[in-house]
Amino acid sequence: MDARADTTPPTNVLIVGVGGQGVIMVSKVLAQLCQRHGLQVKQSEVHGMAKRGGGVFSHVRFGPQVWSPVIPKGEVDILVALEWAEGLRWLNHLRRDGGTFVADTQQIVPPISFRNRSRGARSAYRPETPAEIVDQVGNGFALDATDMAAGLGNARAANAVLLGALSTALPFSVDGWLEVLSQSVPARTVETNRSAFLAGREWVETADRRPTAEAAVVHAVVAPESQDTYRLEITEAWCKSCDICVKMCPERCLALNDAQIAVLAVPAACTACRLCEWLCPDFAIRVVREQEPAAVT
Ligand code: SF4
Ligand code: SF4
Repeated sequence: MDARADTTPPTNVLIVGVGGQGVIMVSKVLAQLCQRHGLQVKQSEVHGMAKRGGGVFSHVRFGPQVWSPVIPKGEVDILVALEWAEGLRWLNHLRRDGGTFVADTQQIVPPISFRNRSRGARSAYRPETPAEIVDQVGNGFALDATDMAAGLGNARAANAVLLGALSTALPFSVDGWLEVLSQSVPARTVETNRSAFLAGREWVETADRRPTAEAAVVHAVVAPESQDTYRLEITEAWCKSCDICVKMCPERCLALNDAQIAVLAVPAACTACRLCEWLCPDFAIRVVREQEPAAVT
């Protein structure tokens, strides 16, 4: 049939997240796969403040014929969110009649959400839990893709986990996805990304996948117990010496060393506020909560 005569509406996929998470990689893999299947593809993206942790989104539309690169509000068939609050922000673009929402429960809290940086303070981050949101949409999948990817050796492969989850909603073969994915990531990360993709796919295909309300308590809020202890993990290989964490640490306890890598220079001053973790554009810093110290009797 002449493709020009085919009036089948395009499939609309919206991918959202914040800078550094790999939104564009996900959209490019999808767009290339569609092109390999002879489909028309239109893609448009915005990533103006990406390097400062700002929002990034990419529209991908494909089908026999696609006229506009921008998905009209309310016509998103599949919304893929690499960051939880970004997903909620775009949720009103999803079709009400059976749209699919695939989201990482990872929270990257913008500094403006956390004005009181003392230990135990609450942030103004979106309070909705994954369980609440998943119940509101036609097909909802909220998974801890970042932790899954970290378990495979590289938290940055969370986007591949979500790509795997996305793949279950589209009629392309697993081999096709893996081939394009393998050509889209650095050679040294191919195996990790393939494993992450398959893990995301398997997670969606597993029957009992919905998170409990308890599972919604993820990464972001500093625990109120003042007795908790924390450690700061800095992945030197990911630090690009941008100095953001050093400049923004409210306690002035970070510095760049002789190799221009961020280090915790004054550990005693660190309040575990997590600002450095949230602001690092390359996810090089993690503030990890340790076990509570044993009670003194
Ligand atoms: S740890 Fe992150 S924010 Fe700090 S200097 Fe390195 S790349 Fe920049
Ligand atoms: S080092 Fe990080 S967690 Fe510690 S006080 Fe500074 S910004 Fe907060």
